[in-house]
Amino acid sequence: NVLLSIKDLHASVEEKNIIKGLNLEIKPGEVHAIMGPNGAGKSTLGYVLSGREGYEVDSGTVSLNGEDLFEMETEERARAGLFLAFQYPVEIPGVSNLEFLKAAVDATREANGQEAVSSAEFLKQAKEACKKVNLPVSFLKRGVNEGFSGGEKKRNELMQMLLLKPKVCILDETDSGLDIDALQVVAEGVNSQRSDDRSFIVVTHYQRLLDYIKPDYVHVLSDGKIVKSGDASLALELEAQGYSWLQTEPAEDE
Ligand code: ADP
Ligand code: MG
Ligand code: MG
Repeated sequence: NVLLSIKDLHASVEEKNIIKGLNLEIKPGEVHAIMGPNGAGKSTLGYVLSGREGYEVDSGTVSLNGEDLFEMETEERARAGLFLAFQYPVEIPGVSNLEFLKAAVDATREANGQEAVSSAEFLKQAKEACKKVNLPVSFLKRGVNEGFSGGEKKRNELMQMLLLKPKVCILDETDSGLDIDALQVVAEGVNSQRSDDRSFIVVTHYQRLLDYIKPDYVHVLSDGKIVKSGDASLALELEAQGYSWLQTEPAEDE
């Protein structure tokens, strides 16, 4: 029973090979942390999985719930339960957060053969979600990401996650500094949504985040492939020793 299966994935950006034979299997309910040096391809992996323009798959396969991910358009992937958070999407002035969220949830429910939720019921759920992530309800009326601070964007994305209930959540912290407050927001959001049928890929530079989100597995991504996998203790080792010691080891061969 595998939720997300990545097999020998090779992908490029601007004709440059970035992902170079990556394998990863994620079962329902698991939390996988991906760490690794800057430029290793961690963010690229998230973009390739979500189907972002400009990210080319050269070879390999990825299946989500047994279905070929690369046969699906970006939006279909989202509707099939894949969610990529923290990429700081552009502002969408004129479209309120509530409208944006409702449209996303409606589309997802429809794609999964579920009935639409009434506007009143959705508003109720959205207000509850605001409370959970500690955002004022007035955020629902504001334009998508319009003038949000970094922390507010994170809370807002966690709210989206609460409402969309994705099956595979990819959280990429990017290289931006996260203060302890934002770390805790992210950790609480993830922890409150951990369940037997939902999986997370947490991309992070910060071992500290993994003090709050206990991963089942930690992987090191280096030069486009996973060069080491372990349990949560691997993150502590990396914190103490950095990544350079891994580069002398032969990479796991395909
Ligand atoms: P990480 O998230 O591990 O720090 P990235 O996935 O952001 O690494 O980047 C991996 C490599 O791909 C880097 O060498 C980066 O310069 C390159 N890269 C990523 N996105 C682009 C892009 N849009 N155009 C050109 N090169 C890119
Ligand atoms: Mg980077
Ligand atoms: Mg990155």
